[in-house]
Amino acid sequence: MGLSPMMAQYMQIKESNKDCILFFRLGDFYEMFFEDAKTVSGELDLVLTGKECGLSERAPMCGVPFHSAENYIARLVEKGYKVAICEQVEDPATAKGLVRREIVRIITPGTVIENSMLEEGRSNYLCAVTVLNDTVGLCFCDASTGETHVTQTSGEDMFSFAVGEIGRFSPREVLLPEKYGEYDKLAEFLNTKYEGMKTLRGKASFDINQTEQRLLSHFKVISTENINVPAKSASACALGAVIEYLYETGLTGNIAVSNVNFYARNKFMRLDMTAVRNLEIVETIRTKSKKGTLLWVLDKTKTAMGKRLIKSWLEQPLMSLNEINLRHNAVEELFGDTVMRGETNELLSGIKDIERIISAIIYNKADARDLRLLWFTLCKLPYIKQILQNASCRMLKEIDNDIDPLYDIAELIDSAITEEPPTTIKEGGIIKTGYNDEVDSLREIMQNGTGVIASIEMRERERTGIKNLKVKYNRVFGYYIEVTNSFLDLVPEDYMRKQTLTGGERFITPELKELEGKLIGAKDRLFALEYAIFDKIRQHICEQKVRLQTTAAALARLDVLCSFAETAIQNDYVRPRFNNEGAIKILAGRHPVVEKLSNSPFVANDTYLDRADNRCAIITGPNMAGKSTYMRQVAIIALMAQIGCFVPAQSADLCVCDAIFTRVGASDDLSSGRSTFMVEMSEVADILNYATADSLLILDEIGRGTSTFDGMAIARSVLEYIANKNKIGAKTLFATHYHELTAMEFEISGVKNYNIAVKKRGDDIIFLRRIVKGGADESYGVEVAKLAGLPGGVIKRAKEILNDAEQGKVVSYKQEATLNDFLPMETLQATELLSELKIIDVETLTPIESAKILYDLVQKAKD
Ligand code: ATP
Repeated sequence: MGLSPMMAQYMQIKESNKDCILFFRLGDFYEMFFEDAKTVSGELDLVLTGKECGLSERAPMCGVPFHSAENYIARLVEKGYKVAICEQVEDPATAKGLVRREIVRIITPGTVIENSMLEEGRSNYLCAVTVLNDTVGLCFCDASTGETHVTQTSGEDMFSFAVGEIGRFSPREVLLPEKYGEYDKLAEFLNTKYEGMKTLRGKASFDINQTEQRLLSHFKVISTENINVPAKSASACALGAVIEYLYETGLTGNIAVSNVNFYARNKFMRLDMTAVRNLEIVETIRTKSKKGTLLWVLDKTKTAMGKRLIKSWLEQPLMSLNEINLRHNAVEELFGDTVMRGETNELLSGIKDIERIISAIIYNKADARDLRLLWFTLCKLPYIKQILQNASCRMLKEIDNDIDPLYDIAELIDSAITEEPPTTIKEGGIIKTGYNDEVDSLREIMQNGTGVIASIEMRERERTGIKNLKVKYNRVFGYYIEVTNSFLDLVPEDYMRKQTLTGGERFITPELKELEGKLIGAKDRLFALEYAIFDKIRQHICEQKVRLQTTAAALARLDVLCSFAETAIQNDYVRPRFNNEGAIKILAGRHPVVEKLSNSPFVANDTYLDRADNRCAIITGPNMAGKSTYMRQVAIIALMAQIGCFVPAQSADLCVCDAIFTRVGASDDLSSGRSTFMVEMSEVADILNYATADSLLILDEIGRGTSTFDGMAIARSVLEYIANKNKIGAKTLFATHYHELTAMEFEISGVKNYNIAVKKRGDDIIFLRRIVKGGADESYGVEVAKLAGLPGGVIKRAKEILNDAEQGKVVSYKQEATLNDFLPMETLQATELLSELKIIDVETLTPIESAKILYDLVQKAKD
C-alpha cells in the first residue's frame, strides 16, 4: 500500500519546507499531519485525530478553520515556529484530478505583516548580521512598515557594537551566516541572552555579488550608493540578505521596503540593553510593563506610527548637537504655540496606522475597508499642512514639506470605493455607483432581475390559480417554482418537476432558466469586474508608495514632537541647553517617573559634573535614602535631552554624552549559568572596556556581590580606573555603602563626596531626599530594617551586635536569647512605644512637632 495521492502531494511540499509547520489547505480547513499535527495539537490545545493516508496506520492530524487561522498562526509564531501556508491554487470545482496546491507564504517572527499578529506600538524587526573583510554589517527591517536601517563598523569592539544594536532594536528574528559561532562575543550573546529566533542562512545569502544584484534589481538603481548604502560593503550584504528572505517568505513578489536609512555608528548614543533595562526606559524590570517607565511618562502620541517612533527615539538618543537642536526647536515651538499644538493633536487623533495600511496595499493584502481608512486619514492632511504653514522652525517645515496632501489618491478612493465596503473583496459591493459604466449596468440587470422574478410570480399565480405559488432560489437548482401539495392538481403542463418535498413539489420552466442564466452571469461578471477595478486601484496606490511612506513617516515625527511638547507642559519640563565644556549642570532635577508614581512630593536635587574636579561623585547614604533614584534621574535627564525632549528640572546645561553605562542592583543570569557576582563583574568589564571621557556612568554598589573586603577592594580599584583621566576619566555617579571609599575624595583628583541627607529622631530616621556635599556619617541600616518591619527582637539584637562591634568588643554570636525575643509581638510593640515616649524631650518641642509625634504614636498604637 502506498500513500494516497493527496498525502503524496503533502509529503512532497513538506519535504521542501522541513523547518516549518505546514498549514495544508483542505476545503474550509488548514490541516496539519504527522509530526506537525502532534506538535501543534500540543502547543495549541487542539484535538489530535487521524486521517486515512493509504498507509496501514492513519496519519495523525489536527486542523483549524481557515477563517480563524490567523489567531492560531500568531500563537505558533509567538512560540517561535515558522508557519508555511499551503493553499489550493485551483478551483476544486473545475480541477481535473487532485487540486494543485502551493506554498503562498511563510510566516516567521521577523516577517509578520498581518495587523492581527502585530503589536500596534511596537516595530517588528527582522535583522541580518554578516561579516565582510573584518567589518560587521547589520540590517534591521520592519516588513510591516518597510522601515529599514543599516549600519556597519570595524575594529576590535565591532561585535560589542553589533550586540548593542541588536539589544537596542530587539529584533524578533536574526538571519545569520552558518559560521556565526566563530564570532565569539556575538555568538555568546545570541546563544545566551537573545530571546528571538535565529535563522541560519547559506553562504549565497550573504554573498557580496549576489546581494548586490538583488539590491540593484529590487531598488531599481544602478548602484547601492543610490540608496545611501556603500557599494559592496558589509551593510549591503546584510541588507541583501534581508531582502532575499522577504521575497522568499513573502512569495507575492512585493515587499514594502523602499527607503533605507544608513546610519553611522556614532550617530546614536551608545545605550546597551543593560542600560535600557536598568533605567526602565521602555519596560519595568520587575513586571516588564510599560507603566512605570520613561516611555509611559513621555508617550502622549495619538497614532500607532507615533507610538512606534517614540519608542525607537527613546532607544536611540542622538549624538549630533545640530540634530538635537532641530528637535528641541520644534518642541519649543509646539510648546509655546498652544493653538498649533492643540489643533495638530486633535487632527492626529483620528489618524489611522497608514504605514501598515500602505504595506498591506503593497503586499496585496489590503481590502476595500483599508482603502477607506487610508482615505479617512488623507482627508486630514490638507488641514495639518495648513497648520504647519505657520511653523517657523526647520523641522516642522520639513515635516510640512514631506506631507504630501495626496489629493489624487484621496479622490480616487472616494470616487471609486463605497463608503462602507464589506471585508470581502470578491463578492461585490465595493465599487461606488457612477464610477464604472459596466458595473452600473450589471447592477441594473441584477436589480431588474429581482423585479422580473416578482412579476413572474404574480403572473403565474394568476394564470394557474395557485394562490401560494412562490418563485424561489437555491444554489443547487437556481430559480424554481414551489407548489404545496394541496394545489398540485393546478400545476400546468409546461412546468417541469425537479424535486418532491413532503409538503409540496418544486418545478422549473424554460423562462426561469433563461432568466437565471442572465442574472447569474451578471452577478459573476459584476463580482469579477469589481475585484478587477479594486485591484487596479490598489496597484495604482502601490505605485505611489514612496509618497505615501514619506507622508506617514512625517506624521509619525510630528506626533512624537507634539507628544514631547505636551508632556513638557503637563509635567513642567524645561528645554535643556548644551555646553562644549563637557559639564552637566542640573538645577533642581527630578526623576520623571518617580515623581509621577510617588504619593509624597518629589524633592528636586542639583547635579554638577565636569571634566575637571567633579568627574566622579561618590554617593553615600542609608538604604532607601534615594541614591538610586538620584543617579538614574541624572542619566535619564541626559538621555531625554539627547532624544530631543525637554527635561524635568529648573534648568539643565548639559554636554553630549557618547554613552550611558549602568551597573545597577543584582540581576541573576541563571540561564547562562552565571552567578550574580559574575554578571556584575562582566558588566563592569564591559564598562571599563568601552567607556570614554564623554560617557556617563551610573554605578550602584559595585562589589556588593562578594565578601566585604574583596568587594571594597574591587569597588575602589574600579573607581580609581574610571576617575583616572589617562584611563577613562568618565563622568560617574558611584553609590556605595562602603563608607571607607569616601577617603578617595582626598586622595584622587576629580572625586567628590555626596550623601543623601537623613535626619535622625530617636531611634527613627527621616529621609530628607536631599543630596548634600560630604560623605554620610552613618549607615542607619538597622533603622531602615526597622522601617521595613523586621520583628522587634531581631532589631534589638542587631543593635546590640552593632554597638559591640563599634566599641571594638568581640561579638558573641552565641549569646543566650533574652526573654524579650520570645515575647508576643503586641507586648514588644507596647514596650517599644514606651521607650519612644521616654526619650521625648517635651520642653524642646514646637506645637507642630508635638502634634506630629502624638499623631505618629497613635498611629503606631492602632497598627
Ligand atoms: P538602596 O540603597 O536600598 O537601594 P536607595 O538609596 O537607592 O536605596 P532609592 O531606591 O533611590 O533608595 O529610593 C527609595 C524610595 O525613596 C524610592 O522608591 C522613592 O519612592 C523615594 N525617593 C527617592 N528619591 C526621592 C526624592 N528625591 N523625592 C521623593 N521621593 C524619593
